[in-house]
Amino acid sequence: MVDVRGVRKSFGTTEVLRGIDLAVRAGEVTVVLGPSGSGKSTLLRTINHLEKVDSGWISVDGALVGYRRSGNKLYELREREVLRQRTRIGFVFQNFNLFPHLTVLDNIIEAPVSALRKPRKEAVEAAKALLEKVGLADRADSYPKQLSGGQQQRVAIARALALEPKLLLFDEPTSALDPELVGEVLDVIKGLARQGTTMIVVTHEIGFAREVADTVVFMDAGRIVEQGTPEAVLDHPAHERTRAFLSKVL
Ligand code: ADP
Ligand code: MG
Repeated sequence: MVDVRGVRKSFGTTEVLRGIDLAVRAGEVTVVLGPSGSGKSTLLRTINHLEKVDSGWISVDGALVGYRRSGNKLYELREREVLRQRTRIGFVFQNFNLFPHLTVLDNIIEAPVSALRKPRKEAVEAAKALLEKVGLADRADSYPKQLSGGQQQRVAIARALALEPKLLLFDEPTSALDPELVGEVLDVIKGLARQGTTMIVVTHEIGFAREVADTVVFMDAGRIVEQGTPEAVLDHPAHERTRAFLSKVL
């Protein structure tokens, strides 16, 4: 589903991604761990073309991200095509990023109606089903600020799902939450994992990684230092840097 090959990305003179290779199979959950500044968010952002890579390439579900191949030439996609491509990839941010002036329901139907041109009635029906799924069926008419952080993040997940994405990316979805609200969000993500949603989740929740991940990836200083099953990476890390990181977060 996701193929990242030789991806490099610099900001100014700082190389933030130093040759990333990563493959994610359909239906699998990949958890990305690593210290702050190691390039985790940048990697997620390159996967849906919020950042352009300097070299290497990424494909999602067989399509190159941000480019079209014609013969053996690559052409950059136009902004409109990039936006269309991005609708196939759901992104859930640390800080929810809901539209504050829209109700929960309107937050969820906004993209399906405006980007996918879904009939409003159909979008509303789908949104209600998604709210049911994330346990917020009774909050359709609330505004984001009337909800707890955990509820807002569950709305953000429902909003991402409304585009029926082939891939869901989560960037520290529980880092901004009070500890007692973390579980309700992780439970929703676990439910999606059980249903076979392909996901890449950046998180420091080691217990979640152990329970849900098919593959755990450890990043440090712009590189994937090691990757493997949760048992391999979390219980028998091969690299000193992984061990040092785990000893701090466990
Ligand atoms: P992580 O998510 O692992 O904490 P990031 O991918 O956010 O790491 O950042 C990696 C490095 O890239 C950091 O040093 C950060 O300051 C830098 N960085 C990220 N985004 C930008 C940007 N838009 N401009 C300049 N530097 C950036
Ligand atoms: Mg980050």
